[in-house]
Amino acid sequence: MIVVGAGLAGLIAARELVLQGHEVQIVESADRAGGGIERRELAGIPLDVGASWFDPRDGEVASLLARVTDAPTIVAASPVRWWIEAGSSALPLPHLTIEGVPAAPLSQECVEIVGRGAAWRGMLDAVLPGPYGANAATLGGLVRARMGDGIVERLMVPVVRATRGVHPDALPIAAATGLRHALLQQNSLGRAVTHLALDRAPNEHLATLDGGMSTLVDALLAELDRFGVPVRLGCAVDPVAEAEDGRGHASDTGLRIDGTWVDGNVVVAAPLDSSGIDGESTVGTIVFDERVVPAEHRGAGVLGRGDADGRLRRATELSALWSLGPPAAGRVVLRVEVVGRHDLAQLVAEVARCWGLPLDESSVLDAHVGVRPDWSARPFETPGDAVDVGPYRGVVAQIGAHRSGTGVHLVVAHTLSTMRQLSSATAEGERAGEQA
Ligand SMILES: Cc1cc2nc3c(=O)[nH]c(=O)nc-3n(C[C@H](O)[C@H](O)[C@H](O)COP(=O)(O)OP(=O)(O)OC[C@H]3O[C@@H](n4cnc5c(N)ncnc54)[C@H](O)[C@@H]3O)c2cc1C
Repeated sequence: MIVVGAGLAGLIAARELVLQGHEVQIVESADRAGGGIERRELAGIPLDVGASWFDPRDGEVASLLARVTDAPTIVAASPVRWWIEAGSSALPLPHLTIEGVPAAPLSQECVEIVGRGAAWRGMLDAVLPGPYGANAATLGGLVRARMGDGIVERLMVPVVRATRGVHPDALPIAAATGLRHALLQQNSLGRAVTHLALDRAPNEHLATLDGGMSTLVDALLAELDRFGVPVRLGCAVDPVAEAEDGRGHASDTGLRIDGTWVDGNVVVAAPLDSSGIDGESTVGTIVFDERVVPAEHRGAGVLGRGDADGRLRRATELSALWSLGPPAAGRVVLRVEVVGRHDLAQLVAEVARCWGLPLDESSVLDAHVGVRPDWSARPFETPGDAVDVGPYRGVVAQIGAHRSGTGVHLVVAHTLSTMRQLSSATAEGERAGEQA
């Protein structure tokens, strides 16, 4: 088997394939493995400059770690508070919210963000019949019906865009697990939020690994090394129309490695074309001296509106959510994400605008800036969906963020599910062969 791409999906897939008894090799176009997971030292602090956290709630990363020898342990995020972009500054996110839906629209913290008129409209929810709005297809639709547009636009948009990458009007209602059920039980959305939020730990959707996310890549690479799986770096796989070489039909596309056609048994764990890209965001990991970011502005970070090119999606204070060790003493480490392709100056300008602080590039001690594709132009596959081999000849499965959606937990769940399906398909094929 050939696995294309040595990112998280490719490394997990290669390991699973070896355990299923295949002989495996990995080909990777870059000069390092890990893809969107990368560690660098900034201002003397070892930091994840690619993925730096994951959502642990579905337990998939934990179940992967349990299978990998010398796997790192999961570290939960501290329960520090988020801020939210409101007008030209940031305000604390109301205490009890789910996906930005407030438990108490008339609380002072909520009124400050949405305004008094929108807050009173939000209170209408308390007197509407329980099922009112419950059949809306999206969470935005439900909240518009019960609490009004102001709550959706000023509170939900920053939260949902920053954490889910979509507008609330595009978020299926089922994504807010248990909310519709709680609404029908409590006969009020606000009470449903209270009921659910009190049971949930703050920041339970965020976790990292002891030693950083790249320790998972290191552990997988160590296992593949033990299994004797070669990882060929600096070796790109090209999709080529086969008719160009006089092979296949005009519509066939094959894969070539170093000019040689690959005829079968390929798992593609890399985006070989950009057809599913729906934009880009710039992600910066920025180290400041703590004296330029006063304590009263600190917390988990700021959720921005992310509604135009160059605008803040989210600034996450990594140094508040997790201990980054002694080298980070006296430092504030921010992960800043803005819409589109930009430079460090724009990332810092957005932090300065939302925090109302006089920051510019000269305030930065060290930084790394990267670009991440938004894979949102095609419907994502979820674990259990039939394996999709995609358009290339000889491919037995396609995996990775471009199929599952961006996010470590999505990639892990989709890859493990796809590999399980391949394994049962192979077993069935062998059984049928024995019977024949
Ligand atoms: C800067 C940044 C920050 C992020 N932050 C977070 C975060 O905090 N939390 C989170 O959950 N997710 C985050 N992500 C997303 C997360 O990293 C990805 O969803 C995940 O790592 C994707 O893994 P993958 O294996 O699908 O793809 P990738 O990691 O992209 O791996 C694909 C690999 O294939 C290789 N490749 C591409 N084309 C070819 C070719 N033609 N031939 C051979 N090899 C090829 C690439 O070089 C790459 O190594 C972030 C991503 C980036 C870039």
